[in-house]
Amino acid sequence: MNQPLALKWIKLNLCLLLVLNAMQSRAVTTDQFSVHGLAAFNEEQANMLQSWLSQGVNATRATLGIYPTPLRLHVYPRKSNQPVPWAYTRRDKKGSVHFHVDTRFGLTKFVDDWTIYHELAHMALPYLGSEYRWLSEGFASYMQYQIMAQAGILKGTLEERYSSKINPHLRWFNSDLTAASIARRLMDNKQYPAAYWGSAYFFVLADSKLQQQHNIGLTQLISLYQDCCRANDNNLEEVLTSLDGMIEGKLFNQLIKEFENRPARKLYPEVLNQ
Ligand SMILES: [Zn+2]
Repeated sequence: MNQPLALKWIKLNLCLLLVLNAMQSRAVTTDQFSVHGLAAFNEEQANMLQSWLSQGVNATRATLGIYPTPLRLHVYPRKSNQPVPWAYTRRDKKGSVHFHVDTRFGLTKFVDDWTIYHELAHMALPYLGSEYRWLSEGFASYMQYQIMAQAGILKGTLEERYSSKINPHLRWFNSDLTAASIARRLMDNKQYPAAYWGSAYFFVLADSKLQQQHNIGLTQLISLYQDCCRANDNNLEEVLTSLDGMIEGKLFNQLIKEFENRPARKLYPEVLNQ
């Protein structure tokens, strides 16, 4: 590496570091998110839910950055055999996240449940359209474990979690059809675990290419994306163009092209051994 290049590299790293520090120094405040629906719970339950939601928002922003629009979180009581039996995001103007919760479970069970990290991860990207629901679910599925790992609550390693989730569905992608068409069909057929985890492989690939070719991880890039670009992007094309612009490359546009055009078997391994 010659002198000017080395200097440029140091400056770039310094710049990234300053942005990351600035992000970390902003404390969580009530204007970062609002909670709706607590009146349906007693005081103790409401306090527990508030702690859970704060922890979820903190853990998500530690990994994916501070979203430009404050999160609007809604809770509803629902009896179930798990703390969060059902949750979804609503993509209207500002966007909101809705959780159906059974407060007979304690705070630890709530914190250990992946659902909140998955739902909050969705909000790191704009609505990608019904044609790219598979990619949106792949993103949230990939990120839920990144967030949990960084928060120190993931059981096992990231590699183990991804392998055990993705491997059972790889047979669908051992095909001459394109990966995108397979993922869309799995989604249409309501084969959700196969659609979600099969699509999460897009981000396994993206993350590893980013680290090899650009010396930055996917979560770090998504963090920086919140500051520069998230508020301006409205569809997948814009997201991919922003991400590629940030790395001054074509990685994301190339990868989506491959998922749309190449036989899935050329992209997917038979077994994921990380
Ligand atoms: Zn989802």
